[in-house]
Amino acid sequence: MILEGKNAIITGGSRGIGKSIVEAFLAEGANVAYVSRTQAEEHTALEAMASKHGGSVVFRQADVGDEESITAAMKDLHAAMGSIDVLVNNAGITRDGLVFRMKNEDWDDVLRVNLSSAFYTCRTVSRIMIKQRSGSIINVTSIVGLIGNGGQVNYAASKAGMVGLTKSLAREVAGRSVRVNAIAPGFIETDMTGKLTGEQREALVSQIPMGRVGKPEEVASVCVFLAGDASSYMTGQVLPITGGMAM
Ligand code: NAP
Repeated sequence: MILEGKNAIITGGSRGIGKSIVEAFLAEGANVAYVSRTQAEEHTALEAMASKHGGSVVFRQADVGDEESITAAMKDLHAAMGSIDVLVNNAGITRDGLVFRMKNEDWDDVLRVNLSSAFYTCRTVSRIMIKQRSGSIINVTSIVGLIGNGGQVNYAASKAGMVGLTKSLAREVAGRSVRVNAIAPGFIETDMTGKLTGEQREALVSQIPMGRVGKPEEVASVCVFLAGDASSYMTGQVLPITGGMAM
């Protein structure tokens, strides 16, 4: 198993892409701690999966956009697990609207939850990984952070910020064998995209050469690759997972 014995923290693991990453890591033998505001409805099933594959799963409640809350969660989980081999910054929100109608609150909330959160976790965890002389950080950005999207200036700015954070941190820690990469999913079937109208959905799918929406598992499998030794010479990269939406 690719992640046997590895200790991984995943933010936003209660639903959607994050939950699929939790499942994929458990299937590869990892010990997983996931952090969100609410526990996954299927937490018992996750525990069964962990014991089947020889790993473990714990839930830690925290608000990733609250510096004190998320920093304490990272420190407590490190104390409990003994090491942090993988960190996936996945938690994220949208507050869409055209720029001239966007409230300060919509801008601030999205930047805080999507971007400042990754700064808080990376600040704490990179120090731990540097001391270990090993670790893999995976930031979940979005294709929107690379190509933009009308109605999402806040979201696109937060995700583009994450790309800058990924590349800069990768340069800071590479010499200590700590890797930092990002993934940029396109249109993936989750609660986040479930809010779209049928018309918006059709318009989006028409831009995807593969002609379909992606599944959370198709994102999770790329995270397994970035978390494991198969990607040991990769750092500072942003991998699009878009069905060809951006090439
Ligand atoms: P989702 O289904 O809405 O799930 C979001 C996750 O983030 C949930 O586990 C949620 O848990 C957690 N979360 C939200 N706010 C939080 C907070 N303040 N503190 C802690 N946890 C918080 O979204 P998704 O579609 O899976 O998206 C996951 C990531 O992929 C996001 O970063 C998103 O931007 C990115 N992405 C998604 C798509 C897509 O098409 N779906 C495309 C590109 C990128 P709680 O509510 O329990 O806190």
